[in-house]
Amino acid sequence: MKIKNVVTCLAAGMIASSCHQSSPENGMNPFLTPCETPFGVPPFDRINHEHYLPAVETGVREHLKEINAIAKTKKPTFENVIAAYDRSGEILRNVLPVFYGISNANTSEEIEKIDETITPVLSGHYDNIYLNAELFDKIKELYEQKDALELDDEQSRLLEETYRTFVRNGADLSPDDKSKLRELNLEISVLQLNFRQNLLTETNAFQLIIDDEKQLSGLPEVQKQAAAEAAKAAGRQGWLFTLHNPSIMPFLQFADNRDLRKQMLEAYLNRGNNNNDNDNKEIVAKLVAKRLEKAKLLKYINYADYALNDRMAKTSENVYTLLHRIWTPALKKAQEEAADMQRLINKSGAAFELEAWDWRYYNEKVMKNRFDLNEEALRPYFRLENVREGVFEVARRLYGITFTELTDLPKYHDEVITCECKDADGTHLGILYLDFFPRPGKRGGAWCGTYRDAIYENGKRVAPVTTVVCNFTRPSGNTPALLSPDEVETLFHEFGHALHSLFLQVHYYGTSDVPRDFVELPSQIMEHWAFHPEVLKLYAKHYQTGDLIPDELVQKMQKSSKFGQGFATVEYLAASFLDMDYHILTNTDSLDILKFEKKSMDKLGLIKQIPPRYRTTSFSHTMGGGYTAGYYSYIWAEVLDADAFLAFTETGDIFDQTIANAFRKEILEKGGIYDAMLMYFNFRGSEPQIDALLENRGLK
Ligand SMILES: [Zn+2]
Repeated sequence: MKIKNVVTCLAAGMIASSCHQSSPENGMNPFLTPCETPFGVPPFDRINHEHYLPAVETGVREHLKEINAIAKTKKPTFENVIAAYDRSGEILRNVLPVFYGISNANTSEEIEKIDETITPVLSGHYDNIYLNAELFDKIKELYEQKDALELDDEQSRLLEETYRTFVRNGADLSPDDKSKLRELNLEISVLQLNFRQNLLTETNAFQLIIDDEKQLSGLPEVQKQAAAEAAKAAGRQGWLFTLHNPSIMPFLQFADNRDLRKQMLEAYLNRGNNNNDNDNKEIVAKLVAKRLEKAKLLKYINYADYALNDRMAKTSENVYTLLHRIWTPALKKAQEEAADMQRLINKSGAAFELEAWDWRYYNEKVMKNRFDLNEEALRPYFRLENVREGVFEVARRLYGITFTELTDLPKYHDEVITCECKDADGTHLGILYLDFFPRPGKRGGAWCGTYRDAIYENGKRVAPVTTVVCNFTRPSGNTPALLSPDEVETLFHEFGHALHSLFLQVHYYGTSDVPRDFVELPSQIMEHWAFHPEVLKLYAKHYQTGDLIPDELVQKMQKSSKFGQGFATVEYLAASFLDMDYHILTNTDSLDILKFEKKSMDKLGLIKQIPPRYRTTSFSHTMGGGYTAGYYSYIWAEVLDADAFLAFTETGDIFDQTIANAFRKEILEKGGIYDAMLMYFNFRGSEPQIDALLENRGLK
């Protein structure tokens, strides 16, 4: 399927739909037959589960044919080897983003089974490519004469990155070591998959059913209503609470019943640690060992060194230095917060010591006392539709772009919303899918992904299809979806990733990749606009009266903006240390997960009232893959985003056009064409300083 043709014809205003009803019986697999859709979005209305496997198998076969042809090239040039390799694998490029998009956002038993089948197939496939000696010889030959090839910056970067990726994936190893690496890659990918599947099962398995209304004391009405609806949907009486964030987090914050808070938090923290069929401890022990073995095979002393080698941070020392620098003031601050809460407990006449399941609850009470502000008072101003318009308006003021909802695009679920993004001059920039609410088939958290990346083909831009997936508070009864401040911030964050994808201007797939610890800059910088008084006045309207958020409430938000940062920073940093600690190991013999985790946290002096944000057995970022030895990336990038936002505030205008334009041109459009620090320097004119981060978190 030639996506670029579809886009071209739609840009001319045609909506083509020439694809016949597809079914496995008549062999019309929408991934394998030309199937035109508006803007070249995936034909979700025609995709069935049965299509994935044949499409992946055909994709792998066709890709290998292309690879073998490139490897046999007689006279290697940049164009017939490097650029040809970059373009190869079109079928996989169509099917895999859709498959993984669905497996994350709308999975089912069938999808999980397919995942189990294709995971080893793909692991083997990429090994077949990276370990193809003939192909690597061609790449190496070009790499060694790089300076004589007269390449432009982007081509030069692509050549370097291609060479480096092959080496990182074992292209330089002996034949024996290559087969060892294949085995390890396969084992690692299957272990990560098992980890993620167990975690999803465990998250869905827990249910707290309450049948006595008195037990709901303290909970806001909207939470009670949502819990009643959840119970009804599950065919139960009473109120149902789950481990999904919109359910558990308000429960921990507001439920007066201490025992129930404890029960919920412990269930949450022990996901994957229940000594049942979904237990992740053994998986983690094996995974950490296999990763170390892989790193050693590739001549690194530990896995962190291997993982960090192509990131901005470069070494684990650099990561630890940053984490420790923030840890010390953050822990001190968290201890002060704990003392404040203990005082409140004592004052109330209760005689117990603050515990982890009390933290969010008493934090809320201290905030109420100190700032006369409670989070629930803000929700009515954060109706999802209003927040969404606010995010769009911020993007319009910064970059001149607009978003319009389109109702006739194929979707994978009725709740998904689709929008077209246009540039200031009306040019089509891309399509954005928005999928807001939790479902049993959705993994937790929020993320941004693409069904298709932006790229230039034959001088024409193929526009991206981007998706933002969240787990926000649902509408319930007559009440629309009213977001918590955390959820508002999350929407701004994921939207920042979406902008990075929508603005991308590159000519090769290989130059769109951004280092893991740089990729949170575009997302986190957007969080700075979320609660800025000027921005609140654009979108924070009461869902019933339509009144703008009162100045008094805005001032309270401003005053309390650094409140609770001790806890937030400590729980995040603790998880970042844990992730790093596993991956700097140089010996994994008799690794006992629970003991290791405890030792790692004790060493830091973590207080018992704050568990790491993720405990090992539910730490999907690092054990499910994606952020392995990389959870630190958020704070690494925060040094950048805090410093970058300062560029706006220094001008006195948070919508300063010169700065916004520079951010778009030097960072958002560039993908990975240049080294991350160079791109930052080009935007800011200097390297980032940590001061703004410490200031924003109240840790100075
Ligand atoms: Zn992010």
